[in-house]
Amino acid sequence: MINSHVHSTLSVDSSLSLREICEIALEKKIDRVAVTNHLVPISSGSGRKIMWELTPPITIDAPPDLWKKHFEEFKAVREDFPQLTLAFGIEADFYAPILSELKALLEAVPFDFVLGSTHYLNKYCISFREACAAYLKENALETYLKHYFEMSREAAASGLFDSMAHLDYCLEAPAELGMKIELRDYEEFAKKSIDEIARRKMAIEVNSCGLRKAVKNTFPSFELLEYAYAAGVPAVTIGSDAHRAGEIDFGLREAVEVAKKAGFENAWFFVERKPVEIPLSSL
Ligand SMILES: [Zn+2]
Ligand SMILES: [Zn+2]
Repeated sequence: MINSHVHSTLSVDSSLSLREICEIALEKKIDRVAVTNHLVPISSGSGRKIMWELTPPITIDAPPDLWKKHFEEFKAVREDFPQLTLAFGIEADFYAPILSELKALLEAVPFDFVLGSTHYLNKYCISFREACAAYLKENALETYLKHYFEMSREAAASGLFDSMAHLDYCLEAPAELGMKIELRDYEEFAKKSIDEIARRKMAIEVNSCGLRKAVKNTFPSFELLEYAYAAGVPAVTIGSDAHRAGEIDFGLREAVEVAKKAGFENAWFFVERKPVEIPLSSL
C-alpha cells in the first residue's frame, strides 16, 4: 500500500513523530509514505506570509540553513528504515501574492513531492467550522464555493504542484454546520479546477480523511473523480491525511477502490518530483 499524505509533529496539528510514522507504516504493510507537512499563509503584522509549519516555524524568507537542518534530520530517519520508501514532501497552500517566493522555496528545497491545497479563503481557515461560518456570514454560499474552487484552479494553473489535495474539501465545514450542499451547487466551479488539473497533466489526490469526517466520503467525491478521469487527469495520488496513529492506514483501501471505480488505473508516488507509476490493481 502507499500513503502520499501524512503529517508529522513538524505540523502543529499532528502528534506523529517521523519514527512513529515509519514504524506504523511497516506494521500496516504500507511500503511507500510521503510526509507532507503544511506550508500555510499566516497573518504577520502588515500582511500575510507563507510559513512552513515546522517546529520552530520557518518563514518563506528564512535562511536556507533552517530547512537544510530539517532535511538532514529527515534523511537520518529515512536511513534507519531501508524497507520503506519515505518521501520528503510538503502540502503547500497556494497563495498568489507570494507566488515568486513560493516558487523559490520549492526550487531550493529538495522535495520529493509537492501537494497543492486550499485551506484559506481570505483570512479564514476553512478547516474550522467557526471560520467557515464567519466567512458565510459575510458572503453567500455560492461565493464561498466559487471562491474555493477558483483558488484551487489557480493553484493547478501555477504549475507548482505535483498533485492537488482534497479537491472538494470546502464541503466539510458546511457539512459539520449541518448545511445541505448539492453537487449542482458547485459542479460548474469544481469542473473548472479539474479541467486545469487535466490540462497540466497533474495527479489528483484521493484523500480518505473525508471518510472519518462529516461528509462521509473521499475528497473528492466519486462523482468528481469520475469527471476527472473522463477529463483526462492521468493518475491519482492516494493519501489518508494522517495526523494521529490510527489514521495512517485509515481508508486507504476504500480510496483505491473509489479511484478504480472512477476509471483510474494508476496511482503515482513521487520521488524527486517524478512520478513512479503504481497500478491500483497491485495495491
Ligand atoms: Zn489539507
Ligand atoms: Zn494534510
